[in-house]
Amino acid sequence: MPGHIAIIGAGIVGITTAIELRARGHDVTVIGRDAPGSRRDASFGNAGWLSPGSVVPMSTPGMWRKVPQYLLDPRGPLTIRPSVLPAIAPWLLRFTFAGATERRARRIAAALSPFLRDAAARHATLAARIGAPELIVQDGLLIPYRDRAAYEADAFAWSLRRENGVNWTLLEGEALRSASPGLSTDYTLGAFLPDGGHCANPGGYVAALAAHATRQGVVFHAATLGRVRARAGMWILDCGARQIACDQVVVAAGLNSGRLARRFGDRIPLVAERGYHVQTTTPMPTFGVPVMPGDLKIGVTPMQGGLRAAGQVEFAPRWRRPSRARAEIVRACLKIAVPDVGDASVTSWMGSRPSTPDCLPAIGPSRRAPGVFYATGHGHLGLVSAPLTAELIADMIDGRPPGIDVQPYDPGRFKRLLV
Ligand SMILES: Cc1cc2nc3c(=O)[nH]c(=O)nc-3n(C[C@H](O)[C@H](O)[C@H](O)COP(=O)(O)OP(=O)(O)OC[C@H]3O[C@@H](n4cnc5c(N)ncnc54)[C@H](O)[C@@H]3O)c2cc1C
Repeated sequence: MPGHIAIIGAGIVGITTAIELRARGHDVTVIGRDAPGSRRDASFGNAGWLSPGSVVPMSTPGMWRKVPQYLLDPRGPLTIRPSVLPAIAPWLLRFTFAGATERRARRIAAALSPFLRDAAARHATLAARIGAPELIVQDGLLIPYRDRAAYEADAFAWSLRRENGVNWTLLEGEALRSASPGLSTDYTLGAFLPDGGHCANPGGYVAALAAHATRQGVVFHAATLGRVRARAGMWILDCGARQIACDQVVVAAGLNSGRLARRFGDRIPLVAERGYHVQTTTPMPTFGVPVMPGDLKIGVTPMQGGLRAAGQVEFAPRWRRPSRARAEIVRACLKIAVPDVGDASVTSWMGSRPSTPDCLPAIGPSRRAPGVFYATGHGHLGLVSAPLTAELIADMIDGRPPGIDVQPYDPGRFKRLLV
């Protein structure tokens, strides 16, 4: 039976879920701290990648051996502020364990695969439906390497991609140059993923999706969620001066979902993996397809407003301001990958990826609170994963069997000592 559903969170996950539920006949209210597309949300500043190749988990066998090298390298992709270490140590241990063996990493890759497989096509359909087809570009993606030896050193990652049906072709010489004319000639080999795509303006996409949702009858309410109470089979949510009564609640509040889960008696251990982007203030129309150089650990994406480079993982306390040094590293890496950028003026941004310790999202019903669902914990993959997440949540609320095995995403799995 259609009912009234409140979604906490107006990022890419909350909005796509709202559109799906509204299309199935539910009354939907979205509660968001800020307007959809806000700079404060992770959904604003991501790299825009819609990559089937992202099945490779962040936690992989032997990763811990690379950590000291990353931490000591002043241009490295990882930093851990000492003051945050005691709080996140259990998460880090679980994270390291999650992909510690090839078998475990394979299991994560297989569980990520359904979200990524046809994500570019799903987003293209969605963008066309909302009247903004230009926001999703299906030109493919390129992972370049300096030489064949570097590509072969990534053999495990490519074996995970092969096992999960990812297609790619290797480009060299002229073919590589014409796929990405802006890329440094120091890269001599590239794996081209034809089924990948990108979003050309992630913040604008969320805002456009929200405008479409409003036209379809979704109600937006700008407020921070306050007290929650169950009364007579309904949930009563305090939202600023208003109280919202609803049959079901979907918690899709990005990083804050972990805190909100505690109000419903659940435990979802989310940690902020802070990331940075820099973006040139003018576009580079001749750049070519997005690239993710294997050595630099940044994604470089041609956006509507400029060329964006995104990357870095920083573990830091919430109160700590964005680090200029981290943004500078991304900028330096961009100059290495795309020498033509030179000293072009750039804007910079920091956002928090909502990350679980096992690299998988938390999608499903609460163990404790009837009528409460979670759609969160997407870490590095929230944009690409949003359409399938929305569909799974809508299936669960409607009592339809989801088309895939959803057990790996069970929000209740974190009760076990090691996930
Ligand atoms: C540098 C970087 C690069 C990335 N690149 C990619 C990429 O290329 N591809 C990809 O798929 N993913 C990428 N990601 C990850 C992706 O951006 C995130 O996984 C995704 O945006 C998470 O979306 P979300 O809707 O869960 O959270 P958010 O976008 O953070 O939205 C959270 C929402 O919850 C609301 N909220 C929070 N607390 C409350 C509260 N108490 N009350 C009411 N509302 C509340 C906020 O207002 C907001 O609307 C990247 C992330 C970063 C940082």
